[in-house]
Amino acid sequence: MKRKTNRALRFVVRLSAMLITIGVLAGTCLIPSRVRAKTDPTASFIDRTYDVLLGKRVDGERFGYWYRNLASGSISASGMIDNLTSSMEFTSKKYPKEKTLDLLFELMTGKLPTEESRSTYLNYLENGISIRRVISDLSTAPEFVQLCQEDGIRPGNIDSLELRDKDPQITLFVGRLFREFYGREITTAEANEWCGRFMDGQGAAQLINTMATSPQFASEHSDDEIIDTLLSVMMDRPASQGEKEQYEEMLGNGVSISYVTSQIAKTQDYKNMCAAKGILPGEVVLTQPRDTNYEMTSFLTRLYSRFLGCRPDGEALNEYVLKTIENPSGVRTVIRDLLSAPESEELLSSDDDFLNAVFEVFYGQTPDAGTIDGYRIGLSNGITRARVLSEIMKDPAFDAKMSEYGIDTHIDTEVPEKVIALTFDDGPYTPVTMRILDALEPYGAHATFFVVGNRVGNYSECVIRATNLGCEIGDHTWNHTSLTRLSGDAVATQIRDCADKVYSYTGIRPVVMRPVGGSYNSTVSANVGMPMIIWSIDTNDWKYRDSQHVINEVLNNVRDGDIVLMHDLYETTATAVETIVPALVEAGYTLVTVSELAEYKQTKMESGKAYFSLRG
Ligand code: ZN
Repeated sequence: MKRKTNRALRFVVRLSAMLITIGVLAGTCLIPSRVRAKTDPTASFIDRTYDVLLGKRVDGERFGYWYRNLASGSISASGMIDNLTSSMEFTSKKYPKEKTLDLLFELMTGKLPTEESRSTYLNYLENGISIRRVISDLSTAPEFVQLCQEDGIRPGNIDSLELRDKDPQITLFVGRLFREFYGREITTAEANEWCGRFMDGQGAAQLINTMATSPQFASEHSDDEIIDTLLSVMMDRPASQGEKEQYEEMLGNGVSISYVTSQIAKTQDYKNMCAAKGILPGEVVLTQPRDTNYEMTSFLTRLYSRFLGCRPDGEALNEYVLKTIENPSGVRTVIRDLLSAPESEELLSSDDDFLNAVFEVFYGQTPDAGTIDGYRIGLSNGITRARVLSEIMKDPAFDAKMSEYGIDTHIDTEVPEKVIALTFDDGPYTPVTMRILDALEPYGAHATFFVVGNRVGNYSECVIRATNLGCEIGDHTWNHTSLTRLSGDAVATQIRDCADKVYSYTGIRPVVMRPVGGSYNSTVSANVGMPMIIWSIDTNDWKYRDSQHVINEVLNNVRDGDIVLMHDLYETTATAVETIVPALVEAGYTLVTVSELAEYKQTKMESGKAYFSLRG
């Protein structure tokens, strides 16, 4: 019995062992075991990958997953490596970048990277490029391809790289921009975004411009720091002192950082840098008015700095450039506005400060005494700066200089439809002349006063005020002598003495004259040295001394281009003018000086020739 039992037991044990063996054999057909893996290259690849990257053995379930997919080819070797290095488990190890590189090289090529490879890839990893790019590169390395062949698995490659991993040169460049401009490392999101811009067709110049003009850079840095950074990034070599100064000067002249960037982007050095890095150079599109005309902007900047003692900001300059471009009298307006600012009046407190500043800015040099003597005289006698300024700007030299700066002052201004020149002889005489000026002033109306030289000293305040209001002072001889009885020399003396007297108060020489009584002959014509202005409407105010008569004479006969004769000696004339001026304005007339009338009618008046009206 005991023996029988023993045999039966032995049978059961043997049967069990058999069943277990069958089971195990059957099992190995479904799930590969480590026992088999020792000789299975796919299994050894899985083991080695886990060991190198995660420093552990894979669990059974994961092993099965990898084995099935690697064996069937639905996952490649590089795909598995990518998957493991992207896992939380791998990233939580926080390997230094060097160590990560060593692990990947060891796993995929069987050896450590060369010094050169290490530095290339370290540079990648430190500039926003991911490990996937390294895996992608190594997946085509001959060692890896061969190793995979031996293991019977597909090396594969990474099919969907992020934008930042697609072109390392671009990512490196963008990473450098962040360091240079913002002083920090680029983030992953930024790297993808900025590389994306490149891939959308923006060139390096656009990206550089975006950074250089960003508030966090531009407002935090001085001009020379901005230039240093731009040159360092765009030329990829240390800039010479000359180059730095050249671009600093541009910024100093008022153009924007974008303009400077656009200029550097045109250099061969920049193009070479882009070619060496294989990146699109691109170009900067300039949008600010101050960047459209360098000479004009430089001039306006000099103007502002010299007149106000500080540099204009970009917006102010844009405004001035627009004004200057839009309107031929625009630059004159800008100049007047700047010079009438309180800061300017304080900065240029003396007449000489004022005149020197104006001439230096306009012509780039201090004026010689002869040029500014008259302006000095006028200013010292109460001629306003504004009036002196418009005299200075009447000089053809001013227009010539402006055109050098790209400023056109010659575009036809709108010519008034009807113009008329009121003229007053035989003054000045304060009680009457001042009333006439009072009547003109509210309308910005101008008139011409043909003064008698020997009266000017007594009533100089009239001459000064008339000049300041934009009126013209004409020459009506020294002592109201009829010129037709005089010799040529005496005629010239009569005219010159009066002109000298006017100049001694206003600093401005008369350019038109009226012969006494309107009478002239060939001797007079040959010696007056100015156009002779007669009249087309004679009010006979001196004869009738009746305001209504004067009013009627003017208003009943007036035509475009008329020259009206009156005398600023009679109260009745002043009273008439108080009615005539508003009535003419109401009727659509613009009241101008004789010289302005000639200009509007495009008549170049000649010396010694008589003019009765100027109708064009
Ligand atoms: Zn007279």
